[in-house]
Amino acid sequence: MMAQYLRLKADHPETLLFYRMGDFYELFYADAEKAARLLDITLTTRGQSAGAPVVMAGVPFHSVDTYLARLIKLGESVAICEQVGEVGAAKGPVERKVVRVVTPGTLTDAELLADKSDAILMAVHAGPRNVCGLAWLSVTGAEVHLAECEADALDGWLQRVGPSELLYSAEVTPAFEQRLKLQREPGGFTLSVRPAWQFDAGLGERKLREQLGAASLAAWGAESLGQAHAAAAALLGYAEHTQGRTLSHLQRLAVERDGELIGLPATTRRNLELVQTLRGEDAPTLFSLLDTCMTGMGSRMLKRWLLAPRRDRAEAQARLGAIAALRAPAPGETAAPWKLLREQLKNTSDVERIAARVALRQVRPRELVALQLALAKCGHVAPLLPTAAPLLGYFAEELVPPPGCAELLARAIQPEPAALIREGGVIATGFDAELDELRAIGENCDGFLLELETRERALTGIANLRVQFNRVHGFYIEITQSALSRVPEHYRRRQTLKNAERFITPELKAFEDKALSAQDRALAREKWLYEQLLDQLQPHVPALTRVAAALASLDALAALAERAHMLNWNAPSFVAHPCIEIEQGRHPVVEARLAEKSSGAFIANDTRLGPSQRMQVITGPNMGGKSTYMRQVAIIVLLASIGSCVPAASCRLGPIDAIHTRIGAADDLANAQSTFMLEMTEAAQILHCATPHSLVLMDEIGRGTSTFDGLALAAGIAAHLHDKTKSFTLFATHYFELTEFPATHRAALNMHVSATESGRDIVFLHEMQPGPASRSYGVQVARLAGMPAAVIHHARGALEALESQQTQAQAQVDLFAPPPAAEAPQESPVESALATLDPDAMSPREALDALYTLKKLH
Ligand code: ADP
Repeated sequence: MMAQYLRLKADHPETLLFYRMGDFYELFYADAEKAARLLDITLTTRGQSAGAPVVMAGVPFHSVDTYLARLIKLGESVAICEQVGEVGAAKGPVERKVVRVVTPGTLTDAELLADKSDAILMAVHAGPRNVCGLAWLSVTGAEVHLAECEADALDGWLQRVGPSELLYSAEVTPAFEQRLKLQREPGGFTLSVRPAWQFDAGLGERKLREQLGAASLAAWGAESLGQAHAAAAALLGYAEHTQGRTLSHLQRLAVERDGELIGLPATTRRNLELVQTLRGEDAPTLFSLLDTCMTGMGSRMLKRWLLAPRRDRAEAQARLGAIAALRAPAPGETAAPWKLLREQLKNTSDVERIAARVALRQVRPRELVALQLALAKCGHVAPLLPTAAPLLGYFAEELVPPPGCAELLARAIQPEPAALIREGGVIATGFDAELDELRAIGENCDGFLLELETRERALTGIANLRVQFNRVHGFYIEITQSALSRVPEHYRRRQTLKNAERFITPELKAFEDKALSAQDRALAREKWLYEQLLDQLQPHVPALTRVAAALASLDALAALAERAHMLNWNAPSFVAHPCIEIEQGRHPVVEARLAEKSSGAFIANDTRLGPSQRMQVITGPNMGGKSTYMRQVAIIVLLASIGSCVPAASCRLGPIDAIHTRIGAADDLANAQSTFMLEMTEAAQILHCATPHSLVLMDEIGRGTSTFDGLALAAGIAAHLHDKTKSFTLFATHYFELTEFPATHRAALNMHVSATESGRDIVFLHEMQPGPASRSYGVQVARLAGMPAAVIHHARGALEALESQQTQAQAQVDLFAPPPAAEAPQESPVESALATLDPDAMSPREALDALYTLKKLH
């Protein structure tokens, strides 16, 4: 057995091997030690192999999913090795085979996958001339994606696609490998090395064509993407290796090109808290607010939309058209179509993943029942879709379930089947005559025997003829000595007893064959029928994935319509000239939080950016609402770009190519040195990439260094954004000096968040108003916070000194000098003496004397 184990293990050196032994999966040697450490399971030793005790650890087969989930989360991969042969059929250990490999990027089990996120497997090929080929897929999706990019742009692609597992060739340069490792943040993707020969462009092209059933890749504009083909070869090869079969359900190809999407760097996704909060939680985020989808596949579709807004607005426009149509009740109807649609979609199963599992032959009986119910719903969903919107019309056409599929499922599977086919009780009665008969035997054994007995008695005239059964001899007809002469010809003797003979007939023999193994055979028959059913379902897979995509998109659109309705959002409009014009914009997540806590209404603000007003320099007290305002502009731009309504009274949007953000994290101060480096790196990246069509948010740039460094850098960055990149920029700063910036820079203007004092409280109005903020809020806030009066007095003095020096650019101000007296300050003797001196009229000697005199006066 160990020899068999070692043979199997040799094929999976990097992977934990779960070796099935009866009711356990066992791990041996180093695997056992690793698993014991990671899973906190007991390590034991048993027997000897090659002279040493065998170290092992095991997990019970029925709870294997929990252990798998934990290992995958830790970035491990697991090869599942099952017993495939008959126990005792051959000499030596029962035959075993690795049936699949579970890796972070190739998950298919419902238990291991997050409902609302895709697990993405990606391959990268470092091609010549600094071009990288990329290919990625979700094993439970239907699409293969290809892209090629400059090596410099690779990080951005990795961040955007967000793979769970990244494949790369064993022969990449150490520098390239190092770079991939750097990209893998903690909790990011697993890196898997593959042999270099698997990254073969010709092989990839052929595999892709086979996958798509196409003679050429020209229809997708993918025929010349050699580097991406190489990545695809490794990608598909690995996916097949892990699943133990080809992925026949991947029948769509999407080629992505640089410049098609609106740039959303990782910093932007993080700072805007699109799918994760800054603390790494799932809510409250923009996605958690948007996602009221009824199905997991709808949620995943919506998330894909949110993270991949397109520069071209055709798609967004089509979605907005669909949302508008979904919001308008049909004539004579009171409820809007989105409501009715969502009622239908409620409790609809995850057709996308079920379709993939059908293709991978991993689908569970209950999923097939759920699939059948979902298909039955298509007929109810399509008529609800308003024909006014072309996109809805398109989905209505896609919602045609494969003919006969739902009927087949309804006939084949019991309404409430067992969880697993190995338990039996899955195939419906009436589907297969042989199965019905096998089951009937088990159930009607006694009835059959009685009936046979009556029949045979009548036939032979032997009144005490008995049909019986025992374990050793099986079924027999027993006839006493006295009646032996009347035994018919076709009876065969089985056994002779003292007073009786036992016989068998061909009919009874046939029954015996059936009955003895009825249960086993029923089970085997069920398994076989299930496999047959999966065969029959295979041709339906492409249609199922189309239905899935339509249902998921409709779910996402209905959620956006519902959000627009519930949260009072309005449709944006797109224009060709560069601008961002928002009336009464709100930050949807902050607004929702305020509403939840009933702590006052959100104050809406306008934004007007265009060629002549590209930059807002925003000042005002901490907690005044600067960050909220800046983020809300970015969020509104993003929502509009994906074709959602927006939290604003109106929004007009020109072309946008990227949203860049540089916003300090709350814990910036913990590690000032590296934080400043990070701040500058991020800012430098923005200055390199931003264009006149980019939206740039700069929050408190320069905070990580000394005042003058910071101020000087902030001023330089502002000037660059204003003069060179000419981006739409929201520039929040605590450097009051920067309020001078608009005076010399035509397209910039000052804005501030307003606040007033009311009694002993300072009240933030959260209103954006033109002009610079008043400087003294900080001191006021400190006073309200209970700062000792002496400190406040000191601070006010320093502040006044600063303000009086404001006109003398770059003047050094001693912030620690004692404050001037509260009353009108008296001139000191030194000052009086100084005032009388005229340096131009003095000799060097006189100047030296004067200096000595002044020194004495001091
Ligand atoms: P700043 O960046 O100026 O320090 P924030 O934008 O972080 O301020 O806002 C601080 C808090 O003020 C927010 O958490 C929110 O509760 C509240 N706030 C901000 N903007 C608004 C607004 N427009 N309406 C209502 N409350 C707001």
